[in-house]
Amino acid sequence: MAAQVYLLQEAEGLSKDLLGGKGFGLVAMRRAGLPVPPAFVVTTEACRRYLRTGEVPGLWEEVRAKMAALEDLAGKRFGLGEGASPPLLVSVRSGAPVSMPGMMDTILNLGLTLEGVEALARATGNPRFAWDSFRRLLAMYGEVVLGEGSEVFEDFEEKLSALKERRGAETEADLTAEDLEELAYVYLAHLEARGTPFPLDPWAQLEGAILAVFRSWQNPRARTYRRIYGIPEDLGTAVVVQAMVFGNLGEDSGTGVGFTRNPATGEKGLYGEYLRNAQGEDVVAGIRTPEPLDRLRDYAPGLYGELLEVAEGLEGHFRDMQDFEFTVERGKLYLLQTRSGKRTAQAAVRIAVEMAEEGLITKEEAILRVEANALPGLLRPAVDRNKAPKPLVKGLPASPGAAFGHAVFSNEAAERYTAQGLPTILIRPETTPEDITGMYLSKGILTARGGLTSHAAVVARGLGVPAVVGAEALRVYPGEGRARAEGVEIREGDLLTLDGSTGEVYLGSVPLVEAAGEALLAKLLSWAEPHRRLGVRANADTPEDAQRARAFGAEGIGLCRTEHMFFQEERLPWVRRLILAATEEEEAEALEVLFHFQKEDFKGILRAMDGLPVTVRLLDPPLHEFLPPLAELGEKAEAGDDEARALLERAKALHELNPMLGFRGVRLLLLRPGIFRMQLRALLEAAKELREEGLNPRPEVMLPLVADPKEVARARALAEELFREYGPIPFGTMIETPRAALLAGEIAPLVDFFSFGTNDLTQMTFGLSRDDAGKFLPRYVEEGLFPFDPSERLDEKGVGRLLRLAVEEGRRANPGLKLGLCGEHGGEAGSVRFVADLLDYTSASPFRVLTARLAAAQAGLSSLQPV
Ligand code: PEP
Ligand code: MG
Repeated sequence: MAAQVYLLQEAEGLSKDLLGGKGFGLVAMRRAGLPVPPAFVVTTEACRRYLRTGEVPGLWEEVRAKMAALEDLAGKRFGLGEGASPPLLVSVRSGAPVSMPGMMDTILNLGLTLEGVEALARATGNPRFAWDSFRRLLAMYGEVVLGEGSEVFEDFEEKLSALKERRGAETEADLTAEDLEELAYVYLAHLEARGTPFPLDPWAQLEGAILAVFRSWQNPRARTYRRIYGIPEDLGTAVVVQAMVFGNLGEDSGTGVGFTRNPATGEKGLYGEYLRNAQGEDVVAGIRTPEPLDRLRDYAPGLYGELLEVAEGLEGHFRDMQDFEFTVERGKLYLLQTRSGKRTAQAAVRIAVEMAEEGLITKEEAILRVEANALPGLLRPAVDRNKAPKPLVKGLPASPGAAFGHAVFSNEAAERYTAQGLPTILIRPETTPEDITGMYLSKGILTARGGLTSHAAVVARGLGVPAVVGAEALRVYPGEGRARAEGVEIREGDLLTLDGSTGEVYLGSVPLVEAAGEALLAKLLSWAEPHRRLGVRANADTPEDAQRARAFGAEGIGLCRTEHMFFQEERLPWVRRLILAATEEEEAEALEVLFHFQKEDFKGILRAMDGLPVTVRLLDPPLHEFLPPLAELGEKAEAGDDEARALLERAKALHELNPMLGFRGVRLLLLRPGIFRMQLRALLEAAKELREEGLNPRPEVMLPLVADPKEVARARALAEELFREYGPIPFGTMIETPRAALLAGEIAPLVDFFSFGTNDLTQMTFGLSRDDAGKFLPRYVEEGLFPFDPSERLDEKGVGRLLRLAVEEGRRANPGLKLGLCGEHGGEAGSVRFVADLLDYTSASPFRVLTARLAAAQAGLSSLQPV
């Protein structure tokens, strides 16, 4: 059997999948000559075996052998102090192949026993430090290994608070060695009393900790994280066991987190936070607010210089922005971890472009490095500071963009508001991995404590949710569902706005401004364009949207939905007359008025897209959608309103149990051909008038909801009547019913183009209503029944198969057939990459045009490196 445990020096050349990200990074750093404390790695394979079978044969023998080597390297003995030498203590950390910040558990100071504490006190001459280390071990081990939940943590916090109160101590720093010793015994007794005694044998501690890390792969928050980020369930985690170095040995010691570039903006330069006289967990947990690394320049210039060199070395080696953890023990720097840093969309673009310009990576790599789905976040609005009132509080700008919503203080409240379609701002003292659901659902995150590398900040940036952290003037009482700041009470449901780019938080809603265009993004896209084969159009129904889409690089409109135009206030009365029309004259009169409105609509859009194709889809929804609700009509009719009475009757007659599958789309257009003619004539007339102005309009007309070639043939004959008068334009159909996809070979000769309506095609293929599925689909995904929500990402297996079939048979029957996609998937990166080689173009909502452009280029480069 292959080895299951490797020293860092033995692991060179092994994969990240086997060593996990943390182990892999340590091996590389050691190799690059950076100062790394000795360590060994238990592989992900051992974890997978344990999770499968509940045991790992031979593991403990290997661990003991590597520990012996670690003892030699460190010159100390595990658990035992000898003479003036302190005992060897280790940290035990999880490290999955994919970074999962805050999801898994870490134990520090492992190996300490009652004798070990004495030896550590003797060797360091610092009994307070020794007892502090021990009580920290008890707390972490108690929570993570013995408690398997947070209740032990809370018990311990209570005991700590009680002690502080008895001693009149403001903070933990005011507690003496004797206080901490007392606390350690209180913890020991508590663990004993709950039937989970703390093992006072270092080897038992080590085995317990390794198994707990294995098991933590399965904890609910780790599962949630994997689900949100689409991380496979079967990777397992490696375990890193590393000789401890101490950042809490005094003022010349400390611990910190560094980024080689700013993770919020991407600006090059050492960036991060440092906490003097502290252990790593204090920074990451956001319990104390650390100081910016810059300060080191003043009081520890030597260390600052070393960190600059480290940053340079790390980037040179990993060719990416790194997020590293370090500890300074009595003036000596050690690196504990490095990984590719999480970053905002804005930072991702800047880093990719600048690294390519620095020659660190190629332009092609730069294109593949940016997550295309994150681009709309780049264009997120910000608070208009010229119009905004004075902010209520200010914290640290942790994740950019403005957010507006109702204050909530728990996952449960976030779920409750979201279920009603209301946006939320999650407010917490600080966040923990337990809060992931609320963070995911909320439009913004606000915490009272913690720095820019706290859990809240890291997770928010990853999720692309605007966040303000460390707003210290804020007092949060999550149990009571309220917070206080500057004498103002914030209760659940109150409206707040926050700006994650400035750190400012406002009461109520405040005016926002659109984000400024991004020159760097333009540059990245200019590099990407030559690799893109797939055309990108936009879904737009108004001239404003068309203009915006064009500015984002849309090459036309792939879907202009005409029903939105019918809903406008001044037109609704005429739409209702159309619905009520009892005679041909009445219908003609209503259509004549609507014709003029439609013509102006089309002129506006064709003008905005001058020279580019504009696909206009004829009316899609059933007519009763344009009527007021039955209850309202009933009331009015009862009050003697004649029109309401007539409408009520029509509404009842038109009522459908299942309107989604009812009298709509091409069915309605064929049976009420007046509407068809009016819309098409308006489009042709609009183009004619623009041509007379010297413009170059390029309209196309498209049928919705087709299920049979006969429908297409009949509609085409109707269209030809008008084409004879105005000249022909491209005539196409949506493929959005499964039957249309199956009969694509028969439909194709009748049209110039297909456009796949993957919204309807998905709902009809799955038999899953897109309006109702939200109620249970998230649970389906959570339970692993679906790998993702198919309304967001195209289901390649089923819907994709229909699409492929229709493409092949359609092209065979009509080699000149043009092929597009206009469902929401048209702006989702994975789906775009799937259709990049199959279709001629995709069509996305304006903000997602950028995503589609980049994803299509990435597809062109995918042979280089998987995205
Ligand atoms: C579709 O069904 O994919 C589509 C684009 O049309 P709509 O969303 O308007 O039904
Ligand atoms: Mg549709």
